[in-house]
Amino acid sequence: MAGESEGPAIGIDLGTTYSCVAVWRNDIVEIIPNDQGNRVTPSYVAFNETERLIGDAAKNVVAFNPTNTVFDAKRLIGRRFHEPLVQKDLMLWPFKVISGSHDKPMIVVTYKGEEKQFAAEEISSMVLTKMKEIAEAYLGSTVKNAVITVPAYFNDSQRRATRDAGIISGFNVLRVIVEPTAAAIAYSLNQKISGEKNVLIFDLGGGTFDVSLLTMVKSTIKVKSTAGDSHLGGEDFDNIMVKYFVEEFKRKNKKDIRDNPRALRRLRTACERAKRNLSFMAHTTIGLDCLYNGIDFESKISRAKFEELNMALFEECIGHVEKCLNDAKMDKKSIHDVVLVGGSTRIPKVQQLLQNFFDGKELCKSIHPDEAVAYGAAVQAAVLTGHGNYEIKDLELWDVTPLSLGLCLVHDKMLVVVPRNTTVPTKKKTQVTTHYDDQTDGNLQVYEGERPRTSDNILLGSFVLSGIPPAPRGIPKINICFDIDADGILTVTAREKKTGKKNSITISNVKGMLSEDEIDRLLEEAERMKLDDEEHKKKFEEMNSLENYVYGTRAMIRKYPSKSLNPEAKKLEGKIKFAIKWLDEHTDEEACLYENMRKELESIWDPIIKKNHRLRLIAFGERFVWRFSVFEILCIIFEAWHVGIIDFQDINSQVNIIHY
Ligand code: ADP
Ligand code: MG
Repeated sequence: MAGESEGPAIGIDLGTTYSCVAVWRNDIVEIIPNDQGNRVTPSYVAFNETERLIGDAAKNVVAFNPTNTVFDAKRLIGRRFHEPLVQKDLMLWPFKVISGSHDKPMIVVTYKGEEKQFAAEEISSMVLTKMKEIAEAYLGSTVKNAVITVPAYFNDSQRRATRDAGIISGFNVLRVIVEPTAAAIAYSLNQKISGEKNVLIFDLGGGTFDVSLLTMVKSTIKVKSTAGDSHLGGEDFDNIMVKYFVEEFKRKNKKDIRDNPRALRRLRTACERAKRNLSFMAHTTIGLDCLYNGIDFESKISRAKFEELNMALFEECIGHVEKCLNDAKMDKKSIHDVVLVGGSTRIPKVQQLLQNFFDGKELCKSIHPDEAVAYGAAVQAAVLTGHGNYEIKDLELWDVTPLSLGLCLVHDKMLVVVPRNTTVPTKKKTQVTTHYDDQTDGNLQVYEGERPRTSDNILLGSFVLSGIPPAPRGIPKINICFDIDADGILTVTAREKKTGKKNSITISNVKGMLSEDEIDRLLEEAERMKLDDEEHKKKFEEMNSLENYVYGTRAMIRKYPSKSLNPEAKKLEGKIKFAIKWLDEHTDEEACLYENMRKELESIWDPIIKKNHRLRLIAFGERFVWRFSVFEILCIIFEAWHVGIIDFQDINSQVNIIHY
């Protein structure tokens, strides 16, 4: 447990489409707005010739730079390139993904003119870095500790990869908790819980759908069962609408816009907006000028049509609710509250189907669908660092394993050691033996999944136990222990009973996972990119400041009768002309070049303006950013009043504008 001295601890909802960060401060949770004032930040990273953009800045340029703007990294995290779901996604993404070592999907972008490859963990770590910066700017201190959330349906490798992303962005990841549990914390703090309550959390977001059944007794929250689809959410509804309009465009114009990533992206953005509108309106229109080959596109869609297009997916959601109840062996009548989480639960049809399924029961909308997860994560972060108050300090969370875990036996048989929906943390033991006489080595393969044949399940990793004393088959006894910690992360140990020889699986042994060396390398790279970003920011600021300076000064000189310009000011005019031309031609120079030029201009201009009260007055008029001290301002006012150029009243009203 991290100590109180380690500063604030934050909670981050690392969403597929949007991320949100929150902190527990002064006994309440604060959702932290980003630099744009938004309480959620798009999980987008864009790369271009000069810089890397994260969040709103990246999403805003997506139509201009579709192949280098990465989103949906959460759909790739902890997965293999050749998984059918990944292959399906590839068709829809404008950016390129290739298969890296151990079949790890690698995202390919062009950054600063060079081709670069990033793992999903790295992209997620960039989003997390942004969330860290947002929190640090808000709190005015560095933030080290964080609780990060993952969908309940995430398997072991996806959870590990998310934790790795946190480490790469420089966090001490206190814990990885599942989103429904975090939402349940938010719910429990908004709702006074008395007695035992069964709560169903229905979280339909941008990329994932999670349904979880929890029991709550005072401050103990236990996940009973989870179901859902790590590939079902708002983006799928967007995609269906995109497909619908692509067909319509084809019908009307005999042209397929799918070969143009920019057009496709613009259409997708318009569809998302239309979808949001349809949650509140019965009809909406989309209009896109020059969408493809100079052809404008305008069309209408009704809520009814949208519902019809997506009905199969909406019904799938209800199917998962049923499965979740069955797994927990609970009847829908025993559910006290159905809590809506995730942006897509605003869709009226989804609410209606869910309400019908629960025989007309009112749905609970008391928590904010976009913020509840980060809210709960922040509470958990406070508890883990000892910052919580009486209301939350006893909070206990119990998670369950989303899938069964086990070993591969002979003939491809799956031996389930930890059945799905087992409460974690947990330790489960079993015993295995050798398959042939005098076998001294055993290869232990750890799988995850519900199918009886391991080849149909997901291989998490394998390790070898050697030094088994030779004996006839079936005689040696090998004790196996599956240990799952509070983050839902698994360690498997095998120990030969007679000799005590043991081995266990570690992260670096898991195929496709990041080894510690790799994490170190990525940490360095993340740091380097951060420096790059800072350098770019500084360059941009200096360029801006020079630009403001030259245009501001030019405006002042122009206002000043040229015949009364003294020779120094004339010289400056020439320099300014040069600077403006130079700026037009040099948009990507080192920050110090812009800074030096500004300083040079200042060294000429400062003495002139200091001597000349009329110019100083013009500086007021221009609201030109000038570093006057209060004393100087008083002097200027006095001078102006003394020489009678400007009415005292006038000057006075201008002084308010300059805040120094
Ligand atoms: P995630 O956690 O998966 O990133 P969120 O819970 O933030 O997702 O939800 C984002 C999704 O919610 C997006 O697909 C967005 O289009 C959708 N969404 C947001 N507001 C609305 C709305 N009013 N109607 C329908 N969908 C919405
Ligand atoms: Mg979410």
